[in-house]
Amino acid sequence: MAIRNVVVRGDELLAKKSRKVEVFDARLHTLIDDMIATMHKKEGVGIAAPQVGILRRVVIVEPDAEHTMTLVNPEILEYSGKAEGVEGCLSVPNVWGIVERPTHVKVRAQDRDGNTFEFEAEDFHARIVCHELDHLDGTLFVDRAIRLLDPDELEEDE
Ligand code: ZN
Repeated sequence: MAIRNVVVRGDELLAKKSRKVEVFDARLHTLIDDMIATMHKKEGVGIAAPQVGILRRVVIVEPDAEHTMTLVNPEILEYSGKAEGVEGCLSVPNVWGIVERPTHVKVRAQDRDGNTFEFEAEDFHARIVCHELDHLDGTLFVDRAIRLLDPDELEEDE
């Protein structure tokens, strides 16, 4: 596993639409392993392939330490509810903002070997899924943010 460079805002890659994964080979597995290692190194709770410079529909979400989910070609089948919450992004360092997201999503995706599965996610987990899927269509949380937070507001939150 290798730690990959994280692409930051300003790079046009982050605004592009990622392509579907068609081949589930060793190269894909290396990409997935590297994405997980990079996410852990940077202490993120999710990462999308375009953030490491690869325009493929692959994301990792980690709602808690015991659940690291690899989602290949993910799509949201259903969503409901909405809530405002604070988000940040490895590709937008030192910026946080309030974003409205669904509180419930039903997702279909493939695993690293191409097997299709479905799952439902609530609240924080749903938020991460939506944030990461946005990356696959070239959208950053700052594009959706209701407002960005001032640094002193963050200190009050913590
Ligand atoms: Zn992000």
